[in-house]
Parts: sequence; structure tokens; C-alpha cells
Amino acid sequence: MKQAIGYYWTDYRFRLMTWRHILVLMLKVGPVKMLRLLFQYPWMVTLLKANRLHKKLCTGRPPAYHKATAMVINGAVAGYTNMLGPVLRYPDRVIINQDMVPPEIFHAMGLAPFMAELNGIMLPMIDPHVMEDYIDASENQGIPPDICSLPKSTMGLFMKGEVPPAKAIVTSNLPCDGGMSSYTVMENLLQLPTFRLDIPFDVNTPKALVYFREELKRMIQWLEAHTPGRMDWDRLREICEERNRMVEAELELWEMLRVRPAPLAAEAMYLTHLWYFNLFPGHPDATRTIRRIVDLGRKNLEAEPPVVRPEKYRALLWNPPLLHFIDLFNWAEKAYGVSLIMDSMSFNRLPYIDTTTTRDTMLEGIGRNIMNGPMARHTRGPADNYLDDIFYIHKHFGIDMLWVAGHIGCKNTQAMNGILREKCREAGLRLLIINYDLSDPRVVSREAIIEQVNHFMENIMQAKRQDI
Ligand code: SF4
Repeated sequence: MKQAIGYYWTDYRFRLMTWRHILVLMLKVGPVKMLRLLFQYPWMVTLLKANRLHKKLCTGRPPAYHKATAMVINGAVAGYTNMLGPVLRYPDRVIINQDMVPPEIFHAMGLAPFMAELNGIMLPMIDPHVMEDYIDASENQGIPPDICSLPKSTMGLFMKGEVPPAKAIVTSNLPCDGGMSSYTVMENLLQLPTFRLDIPFDVNTPKALVYFREELKRMIQWLEAHTPGRMDWDRLREICEERNRMVEAELELWEMLRVRPAPLAAEAMYLTHLWYFNLFPGHPDATRTIRRIVDLGRKNLEAEPPVVRPEKYRALLWNPPLLHFIDLFNWAEKAYGVSLIMDSMSFNRLPYIDTTTTRDTMLEGIGRNIMNGPMARHTRGPADNYLDDIFYIHKHFGIDMLWVAGHIGCKNTQAMNGILREKCREAGLRLLIINYDLSDPRVVSREAIIEQVNHFMENIMQAKRQDI
């Protein structure tokens, strides 16, 4: 009884907090202006349904795990509204940044970054069908249907004029041809000055580090010439130091995930990284939330007896999470006892940013993170970049199975499937390649994804569904 009350109280409290963040945004922007914006940018209406994520991701999870997941969702909504506030209030400071170019430098320059791909990532998590109109808009304008649906969704939003006004665009040649070339379309549509960061093909060399550091300096000079932003090096140092604290907290969380059964899993691990490290690196709220999640995990481990989750299998997810079926791992936990322990978008072995020596070392640290950005660190350069981390994680976290989110538009990773099969066979790692499309459920539906998982679990893992 006490546990049930606690469960509902957590649920209720975090749902109220989601509404509070939205209300604060409305008050800051002004209710009348906000109403007008809801008509101008229909995607904002989907944001009002953000509480659906609580139902999808928290339902059925034990108390501390439930709370950790609710905390991440709440943090994601808070972060999103915090980002949107300055974008809607200070249009002369807005720059549109590609998801491959994180915002540390923009924040240190007093700019308001609006990450172009963010809606294409967040909205289908809330409403699986929401990007279909934007994908269609993009294809109807002649964009090839076989490119990734993330750039297609983003271009669709730009084509429909649903992007806040901005002063400039900053992008890069990451993570793939589709993502990079979509900015030619966006630049033409908005007619804005655009800066492209040039990232070398093989990023893990000293020469690449120095080259890219100079690229970042060139970007700062360009931004100072094209926007009101001015670099505050002390502010940048503070942001980088806070980011290092985030990394420290996350490493503690990852260490905990090595325990079998893990005290927490799935969104508490991957959504935390996806959201905080890409959108708010170096924000004290991000560090605080990660530390709280670590505390919840520790509480589970230190309880007498430890509060363990039912965990039969430990999975590694490779490629971005399935956006329109974001509750796949909540479903898989109940159906087969599968825990998602680590994923490719989170895992990295990058050092802390050196803030104690010179500005150059600080820029090199930031540059190393950008060059090894999500997706790009595994899909660019030699094939070893894709494979090495998989087999390291396999051993380090005691993984039983690799689930590759085989997004049909991701040509770089599709090309690796053959060699990956061979390597997994050699290492004795069970492999499931889920055929689907990242943001378009019309290509492969939720039910068809479940069928693929059932087939793998029953035939390869010899497992029985435990929820029917
Ligand atoms: S999922 Fe693949 S194709 Fe899509 S943006 Fe990422 S790297 Fe490019």
C-alpha cells in the first residue's frame, strides 16, 4: 500500500513539474505571444503532450527506477523550455546550430542556440506519427526518400517555415552525407549567413586535433562578426569545468551498471546522456540530475537485501534509439527481462577537458568532443571506429546481446552489417538487427518491430515471453 502511494505520488509530482516548466515558459514569453506561436509553430502543441512520456517510460518500473526515469523526463522538458525561452525572447541572439555542434561556445558567447534537429528527435518520442507531414513535405520538394528521416524531418520543418527567426547558422560536415547536405537546403531557404566546421576524416590524430582547434577559433571570429555574441573565456572555462563534473557523475553511473542485475537501466542511462551532454553540457542542473540518479541507483544497491530489478539479459543498443518506439526497452523489460545497459550514443572514452593550461588546450578538449560526436564517432573514419567500442562494452559491461537499430536511412551503418555479423559470431555475441526507420513508423510499424524482437528472443535466445 505504502509503495503504491509512493509510486502514484512520484508520478503525479513529476507530471505537475512538467506543466510547471511549460507555464513558466508561457509567462516568460507572454501568454498572448505564446498563443500566437502555438499557431505559427504547430510542433509546440506536441510539446504540451510531453507528459505522455511518463506513461510510456515509467509505467511498471520499480520505485527508484521509476523515479530516476521520471527525473530524466522532467529534466528533458525543463531543458527544452529553458532553451526555447531565450530563443523566443531574444531573436537577435539566436543562432541555429546543427546537433553535431554542441552549445558550450555559443553559451559562453551569450548567444541563444536553437538546435535544428531537436524537434525531429524529441517530437516522435512524444507522438510517433508527428513527423510524417514534415517528411512528406521534404520528399514532395524533391529530397530523395531514401535519405535519413531525421534530416528529412528537419528540412520539412524549415520548408514549412516552422523555425524561429535567427541571425546565423552553424553546422559541420558530420555525421553523414544526408545530415551534412541538408544544410545547403536550409541555408537557401533561410538566406542566413552559414558557417561550416570542417572535421577531418580520421579524427583521432594529433594533427586533426590542432587543425580542428583552429577551426573553432575561426568559428568564434566568424560569430563575433555576424552576431552580437562576444566570447567570454572565463565563462567558457566555467562551462567546461561543470561539464567535467557531469562526466565524473556519469562515470559513477556507468560503474554501477556493471553490477548484475543493474540497479537502473535504459532511459536513466541513455536519455540522460542524450539530453544533457548534447543540449546542456556544463549546466549545473544537468550535473545535479545525474548525481541524483546515481544516488537512486546506490540506494538500491546498498539496501539490505539490495533492491534488484528482474534482469535476465543485458543488451547493448547500437545506433540512435528508436524514436517512434521510444518505450521499446520498457516493453522488452516486461516481455523478456531485457535490460538496456549501454548504447552507442552515450558510450565514449574521451578524456576530461583540460581547463587548467591554456585556451588552446580548452578548445582542443571541446574540439575532441565535437569531432567524436554522437553517431559520427562510430560511423566516420576507419571501420574499427564502429567495431572496437562494441566489443569493449561487451566485455566491460557483461553484455549478452547486441541490438542494432538498423535504421534504413543510415547508409554508413547499414554498410557495416556484414562485417559486424562475422565479428559477433567470432566473439559469441548474439546479434539482432532491427529493420525500421528512425522517425517514420509507416516504414516499419511498432508491431512489426515487436515481431522482429519476438522472433530473435524465441529462436536465438530460446526465451519465453513472460508478459502473456
Ligand atoms: S542516423 Fe545515420 S543517417 Fe541519420 S543522421 Fe545519424 S548518421 Fe546520419
